Amino acid sequence: KELPADPILENSRRQVKEAFFSYVTPKKTTAPALLHVSDAMLQALGISEEEKKSDAFLKIFTGNEVLDNTKPYAMCYGGHQFGNWAGQLGDGRAINLGEVVHNNKRWAIQLKGAGETPYSRSADGLAVLRSSIREYLCSEAMFHLGVPTTRALSLALTGDEVLRDVLYNGNPAYEKGAVVCRVAPSFIRFGNFEIFAARGDHESLKKLADYTIKHFYPYLVTPSKEVYIQFFKEVATRTLETVLHWQRVGFVHGVLNTDNMSILGLTIDYGPYGWLEGFDFGWTPNTTDATNKRYRFGNQPNIGLWNLYQLANAIYPLIDEVEGLEKILNDYKVDFEEKSLEMMRSKLGLEQKEEEDSRLILQLEENLELSETDMTIFFRNLSKFTKEKNGSGVDIVKEAFYSSEEIQGEILEKWNTWFTFYRNRLKKERLSDEARKEKMNNVNPKYVLRNYMAQLAIESADKGNYSLIEELYQLLKKPYDEQPDNEKWFVKRPEWARHKVGCSM
Ligand code: AMP
Ligand code: MG
Ligand code: MG
Repeated sequence: KELPADPILENSRRQVKEAFFSYVTPKKTTAPALLHVSDAMLQALGISEEEKKSDAFLKIFTGNEVLDNTKPYAMCYGGHQFGNWAGQLGDGRAINLGEVVHNNKRWAIQLKGAGETPYSRSADGLAVLRSSIREYLCSEAMFHLGVPTTRALSLALTGDEVLRDVLYNGNPAYEKGAVVCRVAPSFIRFGNFEIFAARGDHESLKKLADYTIKHFYPYLVTPSKEVYIQFFKEVATRTLETVLHWQRVGFVHGVLNTDNMSILGLTIDYGPYGWLEGFDFGWTPNTTDATNKRYRFGNQPNIGLWNLYQLANAIYPLIDEVEGLEKILNDYKVDFEEKSLEMMRSKLGLEQKEEEDSRLILQLEENLELSETDMTIFFRNLSKFTKEKNGSGVDIVKEAFYSSEEIQGEILEKWNTWFTFYRNRLKKERLSDEARKEKMNNVNPKYVLRNYMAQLAIESADKGNYSLIEELYQLLKKPYDEQPDNEKWFVKRPEWARHKVGCSM
C-alpha cells in the first residue's frame, strides 16, 4: 500500500492487519551526539573511518536523516509473554532503516529508541541512555565471545530527555535519551510467524516462511511441506546452540518471550539480562519475574523448547501434519542432554567421553551452588589445575568463592572429593596440562560484562564521562585473552553491587 503522507498518521498506534510491516518516520532529535561506534561492526558493513566522522553518519544513525531510496519501517509481530499469548506487539521502539550487502553478507540496520511506531502501544518508542549502554556493550561483547547475537553499530545521545517511571523522592525522573543502531542479518522473530497464525492469515504466513527460507536458509530448496519441516529443524538446532552458549558463558537473557526469539537463533533484545556472578541455576536478573522465575538461568533450555512449541503451532498450517514437527521437538530434549554434556566437558577440558562424566558434572554443579562461587573466575582458574602435581584444587579456585570462610568442614570435604574425582578423570585424557589449559581458556572467558561493570559505565555516563564505555568495549573484544593491564576487571562483584544492578526499559 502507498505511504500515508502524514508522518503523524503513519506512526500512529493501531492494530495493523494483513501487513508484515508499516512504513514509519524516525523522530528528529534535539542534539544528536555519537558516544561510541563499534569499529568491528563498521568494518563488517564496509563503512570507512572518514564516513564515520561525517555529519551524514551522525544524522542517519540517530534517525535525523533518511537515506535516499530507503523507506524506514517497523515490523509487525506478536508473541507469548511469560507464557501467555499477548496479541500484536511489533517494533514499538525499533525502526528498520534498510539493508546493506557487504562482502556477500546481508545486514539489516535498525534504530532502537527512534520514536513511536504503530506498535508502540502505551509506551513512548524511546530508549534511555542506561538501557542503551547495556544493549550496546553487551551485544558486541557477546559477538566477541562467539555467541550468536544481534550486533550494534553505534550508541548516540538524542539530546532529548525521556520520562521513565523511576520515582526519586516522589518526583518523576527524566533521563538522557539515546539511540542504538542495531545490526543483524535479520530481525525476524518467532512472533512474526505467530501473529499471522493467530489471525488465521495463512497466505501471509506462507509468504513470510518462503521469504525467510529464501534469504536465510537458502540451502533448503523449493518451498514444500517437507521444506517447512526442515526449516523448523534448522531453527530448533540454532536455538539450542545459542541457549547452550548462554549456559557456557553464564548469560541470563531475562525475557525469553517468543517475540524475543530470533528466527536465526540470534540472541536478541538486551533488556533486563544479567551475567551469573555466583553460579546459581535459580537466578534471574529480571525483577518483574522474581516470583515464578520463569526465565531463570537453569530454565533457559526448557524455555527454548517451550518457545519452539509456539513456533511449531504457528507454522503448522503450512505443513498440516504433526509427526515431523513432533519428532524435532522430541529430539531437542535428547540433543540438549547430549550437547549440554559436551559443552560442560569442554569447560572442564575433557576430550574423551567417559561414563562417569555426567556424575562429575552434576557433582560440580552441586558444589558450585553450595557456597556462592563466581562462575567466570572458577572456570578460568580451573585451567591451572594439573593432573600430575598434588596441589590443592580448592587453593587454585579460591578467588572464586565469595566468602572463603565458608569453605570448610563438610563443604571443603565435598570440594576435595570433587577435585580428586576430576584429577583421576584428567588422567584418562591424552592432553598435557599445558595444552588443556589453552583449550579451556578458549571456552571459559576471562572477561564478561559483569552487571556492576555496565552499572559503572552507566553511572559515569550519567555524569557526562563516557570513557568507561570505550574501556569496556576494548576489554570485551578479547574476552578469552590474558590482558595483564586489565586484571582489575577479573574480580568478583564488589559488595555494593549485590542484588542492586540490572535494568530493562
Ligand atoms: P520487550 O519486553 O523489550 O521485548 O518489549 C515488548 C514489546 O514492548 C515490544 O513490542 C516492544 O517493541 C515494546 N516496547 C518496549 N519498550 C517500549 C517503548 N519504550 N516504547 C514503545 N514500545 C516499547
Ligand atoms: Mg523485545
Ligand atoms: Mg526490550
